[in-house]
Amino acid sequence: MAEPTTLTAPPIPLTRPVIGAEEERLVLEVLRSGWLTQGPMVVRFEALVAERARARHAVAVSSCTTALHLSLLAAGVQPGDEVVCPSHSYIATANAVLHAGGVPVFADIDPATYNLDPAAAAAAITDRTVALLPAHQAVPADLGGFEALAARHGLALVEDAAPALGASYGGRPIGQTVGQACFSFHPRKVLTTGEGGVITTDDDAVAAKLRLLRHHHMSVSDLDRHRADDLVFERYDDMGFNYRMSDLLAAVGVAQMARLDEVLAERRRLAAVYDAAFADVGWLATPACPAGSTHTYQSYIARVLPGAPLGRDDLMRHLLRHGIASRRGVMNAHLEPAYVRRFGRIELPESERAGEQTITLPLFPGLTEPEQQRVIDAIVSLRR
Ligand SMILES: *Cc1c(COP(=O)(O)O)cnc(C)c1O
Repeated sequence: MAEPTTLTAPPIPLTRPVIGAEEERLVLEVLRSGWLTQGPMVVRFEALVAERARARHAVAVSSCTTALHLSLLAAGVQPGDEVVCPSHSYIATANAVLHAGGVPVFADIDPATYNLDPAAAAAAITDRTVALLPAHQAVPADLGGFEALAARHGLALVEDAAPALGASYGGRPIGQTVGQACFSFHPRKVLTTGEGGVITTDDDAVAAKLRLLRHHHMSVSDLDRHRADDLVFERYDDMGFNYRMSDLLAAVGVAQMARLDEVLAERRRLAAVYDAAFADVGWLATPACPAGSTHTYQSYIARVLPGAPLGRDDLMRHLLRHGIASRRGVMNAHLEPAYVRRFGRIELPESERAGEQTITLPLFPGLTEPEQQRVIDAIVSLRR
C-alpha cells in the first residue's frame, strides 16, 4: 500500500543526465553543417577525452561494449583465447569477450571494492590466457596489481572503465593506461552522448588498428577522403565493423566534457552527504574508495549487511513505496542463463554475496537537498 509520502512528493529517479544549452547549440551546428556521421566533431570530442585522460590517443566508437570488443581484437585476442574478467560487472564486460571470439574466464572480486581481485585473477591464468580485463566498478580497480600481473605473464591489459571517466588511481587519471581503457557515454554514466564509447591508449599501432576496425577496416577515413584534392580509392585489408560514433552524438560529448569537473564535484559532494548520514547505520556499509584513488560515484553502491531490519530486496521495495528508485548494486554474468548454458554453474562466492547484498541509491547532479534527505530518512528511520 502506498504511504502518504508517495501522494505528496514526486518520485526520485536513480539518475538524470545534465543537458543544457551548449549541447543543443552544438547539435544544431552539426545538423546544419551537413556532416552527420563520424567527422570533425568526433575528432574534437576525442581530443578532449585524450587530454582529460592524459592519453596519447582517444578513439570514439558507438558504445563501451563495442570499445571493449575492438580493444580485445586490437590486443590480439583470437578465437578460443582466454580473457580473465569479472562476472560481477555489467554483462557487457563478458559479452565483449565472446564478441571477440574469446572465452571469458571469471575470477572473484575483492569484497571491499567489488572489483576483480588481482590474486583471484592470477589463479585463473592458464597457458591460453592472452588478456586481463578488470572493470573499474564502484571504485577504481587495483591497477598496480593488474599491471604487475600482465607484465609477469606477458598479457594484454584492457580496462573496462565504463563508469570511471574522471576517476584516478595513484594520481593517474583512469584512461592513462599501459593497455587500453574503455569508457561509456550511456546516459547512466558520468557524462553522456546518448550512446557512445571511447578507447584511450598510448600505443600508436593499437590506436591505428582501432580506427580501422571501427570503420570496416577502410584504409582512408571519410574525412580524409572528403578533404583530399585528388581521387582516393580506399582498401580493405582486413574485416572491420561499423562501430562509428555520429558527429551528432560527439557534439553532445564536446559540450558534456566541459561539465566534467562540475559534475564530479557535485557527485562527490552528494556521496559525502550519504556517507555522513549512514555513518552510524551499522547495517549499511557505504562505498570504500581505496587510499590514493578518487571515484566518480557514477553509482553509489552500499551493502545491506546481515542483521539489517530489511534484506536488500525488501529495502528496495520499501524505497519504491516511498517513491525512491534504486537498483541492485552490480549483476553477476555467470548466473545469467546465457552464461550458465555456455559454462555451467560456476561459483564465485564474493561476487554472489555482493550481488545479493548491494544496492545503488539515487545520486545525480540536480538531486535536491530535500530529495536526498527523503532517501536518507527512508533508510535511517529503519534503524532498530
Ligand atoms: C555501462 C557499462 C558497460 C556498457 O556500456 P555501453 O556504453 O552501454 O555499452 C560496460 N561495462 C560496465 C562496467 C558498465 O558499467
